[in-house]
Amino acid sequence: MILQITRRCVQIGVILYLCGVVSLSLYAHYRSARFVEDPQLMAGLRGEAISRAIHPFVDSLDDPQTFLDGTKGTLWSMRLFGVSISDPLAAAEMLAASKTIHWPMLLSILIPVLLTVILGRVFCSWICPAYLLLEITGKLRKLLRLAEIEPANVQYSHANKYILLVVGLLLTACVSVPIFALIYPPAVISRLVHAWIFGTAATAMLVILGAIVLFELFVSPRWWCRTMCPGGALYGLLGWARPVRVKLKSDLCTGCMECVPVCEAGINPITESESIECDNCGVCLRHCGDKALVFTIGLPVVLQKNAPRNRAKKNVAVATVIAFCCGMLLPATAAAHHILGLPHYSYKENYPQRPTLEYPATTGPYDIILTSYPGIPTPGEAANLAFYIKNRDTNVAFSESVTLRVLQTSTFGDNITILPPTTRPPFDNEFKFHVIFPEDGEYVVELSVMVEGRMEVIPFLMVVGQPSATMSMVILVGSLLVVVLVIIRAVQRKRRRARGAARVAVRLPVATLKQAEA
Ligand code: SF4
Ligand code: SF4
Repeated sequence: MILQITRRCVQIGVILYLCGVVSLSLYAHYRSARFVEDPQLMAGLRGEAISRAIHPFVDSLDDPQTFLDGTKGTLWSMRLFGVSISDPLAAAEMLAASKTIHWPMLLSILIPVLLTVILGRVFCSWICPAYLLLEITGKLRKLLRLAEIEPANVQYSHANKYILLVVGLLLTACVSVPIFALIYPPAVISRLVHAWIFGTAATAMLVILGAIVLFELFVSPRWWCRTMCPGGALYGLLGWARPVRVKLKSDLCTGCMECVPVCEAGINPITESESIECDNCGVCLRHCGDKALVFTIGLPVVLQKNAPRNRAKKNVAVATVIAFCCGMLLPATAAAHHILGLPHYSYKENYPQRPTLEYPATTGPYDIILTSYPGIPTPGEAANLAFYIKNRDTNVAFSESVTLRVLQTSTFGDNITILPPTTRPPFDNEFKFHVIFPEDGEYVVELSVMVEGRMEVIPFLMVVGQPSATMSMVILVGSLLVVVLVIIRAVQRKRRRARGAARVAVRLPVATLKQAEA
């Protein structure tokens, strides 16, 4: 019981941390723009109240900027008290896409990998916010039944997720585009939290999560984590030899099977708790009235004398490594999905730059600063974008031409080109561009610079106006409506059944009396 309460507290704590760290990031933007010092400038801004609440605390620190730089990111890639931590799936994907090994990236996965090697797939059951969401979805299936809507119970093979992991890594290596980041629930939920706090569009994330939740609700319980998640597959493989695991004390087991239906991983805790599918959630321990299931620390399963040899899982692990090595040999490379070796897709992740309205970046020996006037342009207004590039070691300004391209990000379909590739020489050690952003939204400002004989493309994410979240609200309200309707229906049915049962109870004695009279 205590274990489950602790697990719930950790799960909720992770979500609160995610909201807190993203709020801190929004505050850092306002702070860099010197908005926080002026109540008039802050008035009416998104997250005004929370930024005001954060301000005294951050301001009281000795070095506020170091604190803000050291606490940022999302579950995909974050910095916690100055330590970079990346999801192993993000690192694997980034390696496959860029085909380059970066030590900062390898160091950033050290903590999660070590924890998984010792504790197994606990990221899933204790940390991933999707696990909590899908556990709640599982409870909603009971509500559906109460509402006399019988959800289907289709079971898929657990092997699917390993296949997806291998195929996804190969595909990423072929096309040099990160694929998992688009569908991997912890990354999607992280972006969703970011979008809500920053007020940017969240439609794509809601559609992905909504599809998974609906599928689990009506078709297959715990479908995603058991059979689809490439991250879960990778964590399972990493935790293969975990010394901490659930063990059955066979002398205490009475064979009541209470633990089987409650297993979130969809395995039989009596016979399979040592398999790589078990995520050490401990739910089976709570439901075992005979105390026959316990956590043990012992020799890794693979080192035990009579350990069951699982040839299929071994083959998957080997296939993953081979797929990865083959992928690394493919010619296509992408340098744009990491910055200094840390997985990066946008400002939402652990972006090793100060989150300012001046956007600094680094490439090779050069420091780059993009400034935008105004900081958050309004649609239709010409924004002045200026780039300053200088050699960090020699302090000499960059003297070759650079190329700029501006794209409007699109939730569905391709990004729209707002400014086609435009090349400019420096003017007064500065590269100036005027860009008119047509509408509210997120834009990618792509700067191409020739660095040490190779073309580096540096993406800067800019927010223009107040990106609308109308579609997201429609989806959210729609989903809530469905849940409320199911609850109402469930309550109605329950009442009707109770009334029916009461009527039968009244009729029965009358019938018995008549029988006695006859
Ligand atoms: S399997 Fe994937 S979505 Fe499920 S809990 Fe693990 S990481 Fe999260
Ligand atoms: S076997 Fe027990 S600890 Fe492992 S996933 Fe199932 S319920 Fe959780």
